Amino acid sequence: MFTSIQGEGTNAGTVQFFIRAATCDMQCKICDSKYSWSKGERISIQQLLDDVSTSGITNVCLTGGEIAQFKGKLAALVAFLRVRDIHIVLQTNGLHYHIDFDLIHTVGMDMKTPSTGEKSNESLILKLRSKDEVKTLIHDMVDYEYAVKINKIVRGVGCKQILQPLNLVGEDTIGDLLDKYRWICEMVVKDRRWGGDVRVIPQLHVFLWGNKRGV
Ligand code: SF4
Repeated sequence: MFTSIQGEGTNAGTVQFFIRAATCDMQCKICDSKYSWSKGERISIQQLLDDVSTSGITNVCLTGGEIAQFKGKLAALVAFLRVRDIHIVLQTNGLHYHIDFDLIHTVGMDMKTPSTGEKSNESLILKLRSKDEVKTLIHDMVDYEYAVKINKIVRGVGCKQILQPLNLVGEDTIGDLLDKYRWICEMVVKDRRWGGDVRVIPQLHVFLWGNKRGV
């Protein structure tokens, strides 16, 4: 758990209380939180709720690892957070969709691009609502073209699509990330194939604090 500014997606810039679940059922080559792959610390739902309450923060981001693996516990946590009038964002890897996602204010679903070395389930996009978002990480032209392909499904659903420069941890400098961000922006501006609500948004927290853990 930690408190920071949300660095990704349409909620970027808001102060959030992050709950990061341990373990993931993907193994992305580019994962920027590999420390979350190992077994974490066991903590009760009551303790999580107490910590959220003590923080005084009314925005919670449920992330991982892959938090949607914990279906039953996630449903209970989400229900209790809603009772407390907490705004909930959930970040998931595109392999899961549960009925309790309907109680979440914004579901941010990754559709893994070729550079990640993994593949999400594209049919899950069809379950999203207009307030949800699909995130595609872009490193090169192959990723870009995949994101364009996904855009056809996304705009049919009416949710948002976030194009985010892929951060190669340990390789990319802030300058490299800015170059990648600029390149994606320039491509999108001149490419008439895009439709619907598409936004090019970098990871703000990386620009501010680098790849530091817990920010
Ligand atoms: S889905 Fe997310 S947490 Fe899991 S390996 Fe990929 S980047 Fe890492």
